Amino acid sequence: MSVETLPPLREVIAKHQLSARKALGQNFLLDLTLTARIARIPGDLSGMDVLEVGPGPGGLTRGLLSEGARRVLAIEKDPRCLPALAEIAEAAPGRLQVIEGDALEVDALAHLTPPIAICANLPYNVGTELLIRWLTPPEWPPFWSSLTLMFQKEVAERITAEPGSKAYGRLAILSQWRATPRIALTLPPGAFTPPPKVSSAVVHLTALPEPRFPAQPKLLERVVAAAFNQRRKMLRAALKGLAPDIEDRLHTAGIAPTERAERVPLEAFCALARTFE
Ligand code: SAM
Repeated sequence: MSVETLPPLREVIAKHQLSARKALGQNFLLDLTLTARIARIPGDLSGMDVLEVGPGPGGLTRGLLSEGARRVLAIEKDPRCLPALAEIAEAAPGRLQVIEGDALEVDALAHLTPPIAICANLPYNVGTELLIRWLTPPEWPPFWSSLTLMFQKEVAERITAEPGSKAYGRLAILSQWRATPRIALTLPPGAFTPPPKVSSAVVHLTALPEPRFPAQPKLLERVVAAAFNQRRKMLRAALKGLAPDIEDRLHTAGIAPTERAERVPLEAFCALARTFE
């Protein structure tokens, strides 16, 4: 049997009794046309290893394999899904490795060979935490070339937000400093089984070879965290705990001390971080 001739996902779910568990954020994608469409977002996968987090019954996994991924490494926390995933592995000999475990704890890199794409339909809280980890590795460029991740639409908008919008904040700055994010696809709740309460969106991020503007990661993170912690305050007040001469530093970075964080572009935050080097 090939991946394309495996039974429909509803049958797989019924056979293995995979009733969705809320605690694991299980909202499954059962439409294989849709999962193939998501698998095409990263582009040509033929020479790539793909890390998939939370494969569940394997809809997206099947899409990734059908779209030609060299290998897929799938990390799944729910042991009930493993027999269904084993059937996919059997249909794609040598191309699917499944690890049972928590993606926040498994060292996936040890099992992957570059170039690496990451693709996942994940529970919201795990997704944001993993995104931040993947965006803040000890060294840049990171081990991955692109991230294709499902989020609640509101979170996707925070990742891609421009200065001057309410959604603009730490997530936008971390995502846009060393990567180029875009919303590739928006999905209504009805695309999932069971449907979640809100719409979702797939965000595609490609890693830049170098940061868009120079800055030390820890310093940029400190400045941005302090600025957006009190986002309604003027920056001279929000940042006064960082340095007694914060007004001079803001001037050096070309930022008016009366400005508020949500209107300051990424380039200026990087300039401000550099005053602390
Ligand atoms: N990818 C499948 C799909 O699109 O139908 C399932 C998506 S469902 C939103 C999220 C999946 O992530 C579930 O299978 C769940 O068991 C798994 N999961 C939840 N937390 C996880 C974690 N910390 N590490 C690995 N998998 C996790």
